[in-house]
Amino acid sequence: MFTPHLVFLVGPSRNPEPLALSAFASPDALDPQLLQFLEGASERLCSWIASASERGPLPALRILPDAAPQVHGRDMGQLLDDLQQVMDGAFQPSHPGALAHLDPPPLSASIAADLICAGLNNNLLAEELSPSLSHLERQLCAWFAERIGFPVGASGVAASGGSLSNLIALVSARHQAGLDHNPDAVVVVSADAHVSWRKAARVMGLQSDGVRSIPVDEQGLIDLQQLEDELSALSRQGRPCMAVVATAGTTVRGAIDPVSAMADLCSRLDLWLHVDGAIGAVFALSPITTYLLDGIGRADSVTVNPQKVLGITKTSSLLLVREARVLAEAFSTGLPYMEPALENDHGGELGLQGSRPGEVLKLWLGLRQLGESGIEQVLSAAIARREYFQQQLDPNRLMILTGPLHVLACRPQRGQAQQHEAWSNETRRLLLSRGIMVSRPLHQGRHFLKTVLGNPHTDHGLLDQLASILNQSVEALP
Ligand SMILES: *Cc1c(COP(=O)(O)O)cnc(C)c1O
Repeated sequence: MFTPHLVFLVGPSRNPEPLALSAFASPDALDPQLLQFLEGASERLCSWIASASERGPLPALRILPDAAPQVHGRDMGQLLDDLQQVMDGAFQPSHPGALAHLDPPPLSASIAADLICAGLNNNLLAEELSPSLSHLERQLCAWFAERIGFPVGASGVAASGGSLSNLIALVSARHQAGLDHNPDAVVVVSADAHVSWRKAARVMGLQSDGVRSIPVDEQGLIDLQQLEDELSALSRQGRPCMAVVATAGTTVRGAIDPVSAMADLCSRLDLWLHVDGAIGAVFALSPITTYLLDGIGRADSVTVNPQKVLGITKTSSLLLVREARVLAEAFSTGLPYMEPALENDHGGELGLQGSRPGEVLKLWLGLRQLGESGIEQVLSAAIARREYFQQQLDPNRLMILTGPLHVLACRPQRGQAQQHEAWSNETRRLLLSRGIMVSRPLHQGRHFLKTVLGNPHTDHGLLDQLASILNQSVEALP
């Protein structure tokens, strides 16, 4: 018999017998030390989440832990203390005032699945290293593909983040266009598209003007006429276009480009359409919000980041493709040291990553926990929170940038760029002192304060307080 909780509640200082932790758990019998350690770690984690409201979204003081291992290994209590030090210095997404970025509190099922995933230590490189998880990945990609309106036979791959999904999509698009070795090829995006396109262009060796940015209109949507003009100009200049990108949910204001009209244009010109739906594509999962993504099923590829609003623990991103073959065509090298895959291709043949964690487990379990109704509720509540907050802001004092989703940015109507920078700094600091964390994007040459209203713990009282501080902050401007 052992009493798992006692050691951790009492703490190492009152525990004279240091408890060693077996390096690798026994394969023959339940390892009491592993169980005890996981229980202790779980208890610390649950307490950390449970005390979120008492602290701010950002830690007050940071005691930095030693990075290097010591000569001798540490015992269980010491290891838990090590963990605690890092937890004490961590960003706290479960704080109701954590509104700065697209990083919501973690979904409970997702936390447990992440732990199980670590324990399984499977590898989605190849099927023999992850039989059930590889199957799950394919099934889940197929489910997402169907829900966004892709035809039967569509497929996808899980990637560690949206930047990687976007890069995999662009490499696939370039390959399909036969432009792998053409240094003149370009990708066309909107001026409000994500920075990951610039990174992709560098990795792919595009020219310095290889990412063509089309201006956006008042609503933050790509200007269709200018898009069409640019595509004609490129064709006149002999610059082939590998893909056009529609952003579904821009980073600063959550605008959704006119996907349907862009699909018309791309099918007319026979161009690859990628939808960067890292923020917005999940809204296609709910019957209430799916209309916002009209036309997404006509894309050639779509990036989805369930880590951003659904609370699936990081990282969780899928790249979905209309035609399953395009990923293997772009990335497959053959895996001569692996048994052949039972179904389709090995996961490691479908993208940039080789060894991959079973991230799909926490996505799958998280969606199963929420159910259709829970998914709908999380998405609708995020939008409702943004609508409520928007109503509390004074449009005479604040210029408000938003879209149909749960992201909103604002800055004072009056004043110059320099004053807005100072305003954003001072106001962010004031808000942090009240336990509210917003971000400070530089957008079109001006500093804004941005809120992401996907945090389920944020109530109207907090939004009233935030709106009131923002409305009043403008009065201090000269
Ligand atoms: C967040 C985001 C990305 C990048 O996703 P990561 O998971 O951070 O790599 C790409 N595009 C858009 C529109 C995003 O909002």
